Amino acid sequence: MTCEEYKPERLLAVLEEGLNLLGGRELFHPGEKILLKPNLLAADPPERAVTTHPEVFRAAAQILQDYGVKLVFGDSPGIGSLPRVARKAGLLDPARELGIEMADFAQAQPLHSPEAAQNRTFMIAAGVLACDGLVSLPKLKTHGLMRMTGAVKNQFGCIPGLLKGEFHLKLPDPGDFARMLVDLNLALKPRLYILDGIVAMEGNGPRGGQPRHLGLVAISTDPVALDASVCRLLGLEPETIPTIVIGNEAGLGHSQPEDIEILGEFRGPAEKLDFKTAHPSGSLTVQAGRFRQSLVPRPVIDKTRCRCCGICVSCCPVKPSALNWPGPASLPAYDYQRCLRCYCCQEMCPEGAISLYVPLPGRILGGLRPREVKKGS
Ligand code: SF4
Ligand code: SF4
Repeated sequence: MTCEEYKPERLLAVLEEGLNLLGGRELFHPGEKILLKPNLLAADPPERAVTTHPEVFRAAAQILQDYGVKLVFGDSPGIGSLPRVARKAGLLDPARELGIEMADFAQAQPLHSPEAAQNRTFMIAAGVLACDGLVSLPKLKTHGLMRMTGAVKNQFGCIPGLLKGEFHLKLPDPGDFARMLVDLNLALKPRLYILDGIVAMEGNGPRGGQPRHLGLVAISTDPVALDASVCRLLGLEPETIPTIVIGNEAGLGHSQPEDIEILGEFRGPAEKLDFKTAHPSGSLTVQAGRFRQSLVPRPVIDKTRCRCCGICVSCCPVKPSALNWPGPASLPAYDYQRCLRCYCCQEMCPEGAISLYVPLPGRILGGLRPREVKKGS
């Protein structure tokens, strides 16, 4: 749906209209406790387009409270505490005004999903499991590993703190990582997804890219259909987004246009979009081996932008870090033989100083070819 600005009255009207088309109140029971899960990646102000905009949060919360549900909110930031990130992102004010408390994202409890294809147990924030349901409020952005972050990827923040890094260590292949995200969504079963694409992020996302005005809000109960439909609007091929391909295969949702019913207004901008991704590769499924160094995009540091803060070193899941860093005032240096290509460093750099370089770009990588996955793990 089109919503050109973050104006409270307009957002309220757009979200109300969209939710009514999906059944609105019928998706919830009065008195239920629902978790609002915005994207709170890092402590950046709303205009950086890193986090879900506070006015989207406010409008969604007002409507859900009108349905009679009790709300809490939370996320597990990639860096920084939840209160600090929520304050910087502008969410604390609407949360206070509407009486929405912060959920417990410090403790973790197991969530079992026996039917999952790959990941049967997740450690989930206690505050998520204490709720009757979840409403996801993703921000539309590019992403180094998954190419885009939208409805499916947003639930990764339900896994607290350092536990997220373990998945990057265990699942360096993007296809395996996407399957984990799909399993996570199948286990959590979010009730609804409301995507903030009014100002999205393109280029070197999900933190170091450029804000891009799209005037888009998308609402769905099917995260795969939402992500696939938005990708088509942006000119991105859904077949190159691992979470969409695998989400469709696993039954999380639908990716093909003939299986998706578009309700209400849903159209692209008048001009042709040239939405820039974090790197040009169509797929990242190339495994370790003699071609890895030349085919898989590698993170590189722009020395002119680096402020030598060391965040990239500390967020690397490889221990000791795959970035060598003598200390403050020194530039980190990559050890590419040890680097997993998880791109956590590129994701968290506050200066946008790390970008992804493809030694041999082009069509060599082809489309995504999901690998056979054994049950369990
Ligand atoms: S996180 Fe970015 S700014 Fe900080 S040391 Fe690494 S490259 Fe430099
Ligand atoms: S150096 Fe960066 S891309 Fe490589 S493993 Fe560490 S965080 Fe991941």
